[in-house]
Amino acid sequence: MIIPRDPHFTADQLAEVQAIVHEFGCTITPIPGQTRSVYAIKGDERHELMINRLEGLSYVSKVETIQSPYKLMDMKSGLAGHRIQIGGKTLAQELFVCAGQCTIDPKNPAFFIETAHAVKEAGADVIRGGVWKPRTSPHAYQGSSEAIHILMRAREETGLPVNTEVMDEDQLRIALDAGVDMIQVGARNALNYSLLKKIGELTRESGTPVLLKRGMHMGPIDEFICAAEYIVANGNPNVMFCPRGTLPNLDGYRNHPDESITPLLKQKSWAPVVVDPSHSVGRAIYVPHAALSAVSYGADGLVIESHVDAKKGIGDDPKQAIHPDVLANLIADAREIYSRARRYSQAYLAQPATV
Ligand code: PEP
Ligand code: MN
Repeated sequence: MIIPRDPHFTADQLAEVQAIVHEFGCTITPIPGQTRSVYAIKGDERHELMINRLEGLSYVSKVETIQSPYKLMDMKSGLAGHRIQIGGKTLAQELFVCAGQCTIDPKNPAFFIETAHAVKEAGADVIRGGVWKPRTSPHAYQGSSEAIHILMRAREETGLPVNTEVMDEDQLRIALDAGVDMIQVGARNALNYSLLKKIGELTRESGTPVLLKRGMHMGPIDEFICAAEYIVANGNPNVMFCPRGTLPNLDGYRNHPDESITPLLKQKSWAPVVVDPSHSVGRAIYVPHAALSAVSYGADGLVIESHVDAKKGIGDDPKQAIHPDVLANLIADAREIYSRARRYSQAYLAQPATV
């Protein structure tokens, strides 16, 4: 990875750098950050002569070659100081909350609009609403592109950014064209590398934040970090890790709660951790406990399913969604815990990861 001396390379500088790496069979992908860019070298970056020639350029600050499978997501990467902003909030500085319905019901748009206003009132920063749904059964409701208009109406009425899950390139394009502010990759697509690459490419310009859920089958933490690397390596550094419980489930819960991996993720990678307690425990009554536990573990944010009238909802809402009144109390409590938990995470963040 090449770190420029100034915040960004000029077009001429980039062309010169590109010409050098091409000689060694490599290419450059610019990764634009909020205040500065870094330039990933794709290919075998260990050619000593190539590094020497790059470091010899007056406008190059340094060239980092990290022998990690996720050199961009690594704590030692030039992106380590990168901060993600959504709707005026800077992640990893204050608690971030994304809340709303699992699924938008196009037959009952009023519910979603009401939920959107209520979660805003409760203190959420982003409204979530499932337009397209990955369902275990092909006979269950699959979502509908129609619902994107309801999602965008909620954005217009509340002024809050909105989040939705995409499962393929067509859905991604529809969501980005509509102006969705945050994209979610669900647990079932957590290792869909073609989709992850496409998301990185198509959000390179906009830098639309991407919430990457952890795969369902308890894969290794490094596999999770590498999946995020696909998005970043293709141009968008605004990625958040989302532990959401894994299988096999803990008897009685929907999944096996995994918010406890938060400190490990935070020590290995700079990207914020935004935990989903709703899919983890899968029952509304347990969600507040799981959410507060995640914040105690040092999570930077939460994604929570909430609905004004959950029993009339569709998808996961009847069993998982908490009422916005409960959400309001939960957010207030989570903010208190967040500031206390930070004391402890600051201590280990100063040390290199040993796991
Ligand atoms: C969801 O957020 O509604 C969802 C389907 O999540 P997951 O991919 O974690 O199951
Ligand atoms: Mn859901």
